[in-house]
Amino acid sequence: YYNSNTTLYLNGQFEKAAEATTDLYGQSLHYGYAVFEGIRAYNTHNGTRIFKARAHFERLKKSAELVAMPFPWDIDDLINKTYKVLEINNLKDAYIRPLVYCPANMSLIAGNDASIMICAWDWGAYLGHKLLKVCISEYERPNPKSTPIQAKVSGNYVNSILATTAAKRKGFDEALLLDMNGNIAEAPGANIFIEKKGKLYTPALGNILAGITRATIIELCHVLDIEIIEKQLTVADLKQADSAFFCGTATEIAGISLVDEYHFPLKWTDSAGATLQRTYKNLVLEKQNYEVII
Ligand code: PMP
Repeated sequence: YYNSNTTLYLNGQFEKAAEATTDLYGQSLHYGYAVFEGIRAYNTHNGTRIFKARAHFERLKKSAELVAMPFPWDIDDLINKTYKVLEINNLKDAYIRPLVYCPANMSLIAGNDASIMICAWDWGAYLGHKLLKVCISEYERPNPKSTPIQAKVSGNYVNSILATTAAKRKGFDEALLLDMNGNIAEAPGANIFIEKKGKLYTPALGNILAGITRATIIELCHVLDIEIIEKQLTVADLKQADSAFFCGTATEIAGISLVDEYHFPLKWTDSAGATLQRTYKNLVLEKQNYEVII
């Protein structure tokens, strides 16, 4: 992720990643009390462009607010600083990770001080390019009454690490988690769509992260005239579907070949997911201008 030349942004300054420090008595480190984002920049013919930068920084701010963390920064300024991080590190295609965290505080009371760090690195497709073998996880997504599930809170990702590690140990590529009612929720770091008889379905908001890629795909469905339905989906819905895919900033769009013992019957190349995968790439690379979206 970094080497001796890597520079990051930390509280108003650009610093060498290898020399930047944090406090070992911090609430964020001890209790997972931090919020973050995952953003991508693409090397387009218009130069390096951060895809949906504003939506991501606005979600970062909302995540901070949802956990009573201060967010004293200006979003335009953060976007400018992020472009500067890319420039200093000579990154054209990049994954960008802003993190808001708190200083020394061993109590369980939210304080009124926070730090912001923005780093970036070159990261290929997070789940690779092969169709994924997925298992339904024995872990379920946290109940939104326990933790704000629509915020990207660091502590929520212990659940993601457990589910991913268990799935990999069983020989699968990725986990799919159910919500507390046993409905389909999301992957440890991505949302899910399923296709049935030419229509797409995705879990309604409420018990999942409101993914920015998910929103982009819904917009693309409208442009492409693909019917898209947001509703609660059961495991039976999934295991009778024709095709399915995950989506997320790091993942982009990744097709799924099977869930547990169920193989999706539709060839990926013939699926709506494959069409969306191509369209999404054109969109982020600004090869095609979908004016309704940006
Ligand atoms: N769900 C979870 C739990 C995630 O961590 C992510 C990645 N941020 C997503 C869904 C997809 O969100 P986005 O498209 O905004 O990256």
